[in-house]
Amino acid sequence: MYIYNSLSRKKEEFVPNVPGKVNMYTCGPTVYHYAHIGNLRSYIMEDILEKYLRYSGYDVKRVMNITDVGHLTSDADEGEDKMLKGAKREHKTVMEIAKFYTDAFFADCAKLNIKTPDVVAPATSCIDSFIEVISSLLEKGYAYEAGGNIYFDTSKLKQYYVFNDFKEDDLAVGVREGVEADDNKRNKADFVLWFTKSKFDDQELKWDSPWGIGYPGWHIECSCISMKNLGEYLDIHCGGIDNAFPHHTNEIAQSEAYIGHKWCNYWFHVHHLNTNSGKMSKSSGEFLTVSLLESKGYDPLVYRMFCLQSHYRKSLVFSYENLDNTVTAYNKLVAKISALIAQNDESAVDTESADTLRRGFTDALDNDLNTSLAITALYDLLKAKVSASTKLSLIKEYDAVLGLGLIEAAEKQLDEKADEAKSDDPFITEIEELIKKRRDAKAAKDYATADDIRKYLSEKGVTLIDTPEGTKYKID
Ligand code: AMP
Ligand code: ZN
Repeated sequence: MYIYNSLSRKKEEFVPNVPGKVNMYTCGPTVYHYAHIGNLRSYIMEDILEKYLRYSGYDVKRVMNITDVGHLTSDADEGEDKMLKGAKREHKTVMEIAKFYTDAFFADCAKLNIKTPDVVAPATSCIDSFIEVISSLLEKGYAYEAGGNIYFDTSKLKQYYVFNDFKEDDLAVGVREGVEADDNKRNKADFVLWFTKSKFDDQELKWDSPWGIGYPGWHIECSCISMKNLGEYLDIHCGGIDNAFPHHTNEIAQSEAYIGHKWCNYWFHVHHLNTNSGKMSKSSGEFLTVSLLESKGYDPLVYRMFCLQSHYRKSLVFSYENLDNTVTAYNKLVAKISALIAQNDESAVDTESADTLRRGFTDALDNDLNTSLAITALYDLLKAKVSASTKLSLIKEYDAVLGLGLIEAAEKQLDEKADEAKSDDPFITEIEELIKKRRDAKAAKDYATADDIRKYLSEKGVTLIDTPEGTKYKID
């Protein structure tokens, strides 16, 4: 498999540190509000990557943090703590906000068929390991104390701007209008590892530390949670493209300073979902959430398909018009699969043809996770001249990666059709009415009527079967 590595800015063959095993880390959500569908685009594409690695035979361990402390509105060291902002907005405690929006996040993920990572760790549960790593960075001379806070000293590194599209001039932090420069920093790019003194006197969550009572910066949590659960050698680190700088740049700086060698080999960045008016936002314009889409009648899996129709390294524009086109495409796919299931083809799968067809799917995903071509491979399969059983077997395989719930949706459609057909059939209506009449007769101990009904139906070829859930029937 080839994946694009933001670190080398090239497509590279994926080779894990340990053959057959993949360690994967994902930056989790900041749980101060609902996730918008842009955030969820990143998690959908990361889910596909994980599922495809598993499909390809790798033993994957995936870890994700939950940011419930330390993420400031600027992504760097300026602005308000997002969690505190959420708590104030809703007149709740930070922990109440964190619990509510963590649950909401996983509820959205479930609707989108996004698998929960093997390990999910809230930052507030890992304070000890942050303190341990920060202490070591101080000892090694990579960090310094100033004005009560602990900072990472970026001048100690050979190369700080590893995702080279960024350079010092772009570093607006501290020079942006309305943002106060932090005079404690020795270098403009330095970042906070631990706050004890800050402008947030009302910071709710604080912990004791060797440097006084305070709280961690955002970046240290991902380095520590990853290293604690996945060790010093990470295969893949994922996140939205906005995380490349400063968040991931800072993660690399502090992790490699701590362990003394290269940390993560592949950096997988998902580009943004935007609206026609620009950046997706939780505070202005329509706040696009999964629940909002559902309230407008959209199946969340249609949104998943919408994401898969584009490459993860291209920004994607969301519009209801585009989503409606995906609804049509999804429904057509489901209808075609329903027709295949209805054939009740129990013949053996044609493994030779399946191997050839499967290649279209794996070639697409092996080429930097080209999900739109993988969907094309699904259409090609539907058109192929092979048996329904072969097609269905491959659709099940593909959908274990794509996660579009295609077989389930097709079966549901068939059940609904069967129910509709039944309700239109006078014979079925008569059977169901007689079953009700027989139940009432039995309740009234009128066994003669109940027996007559059984006999009458039996003569018409209908066998009644009494079960604990009620009376079922079989038509000969
Ligand atoms: P946050 O909850 O702000 O920490 O963000 C959660 C994830 O969503 C991170 O991986 C971000 O990089 C990603 N993200 C933020 N905005 C977007 C967007 N518009 N499109 C895709 N991913 C995004
Ligand atoms: Zn992170």
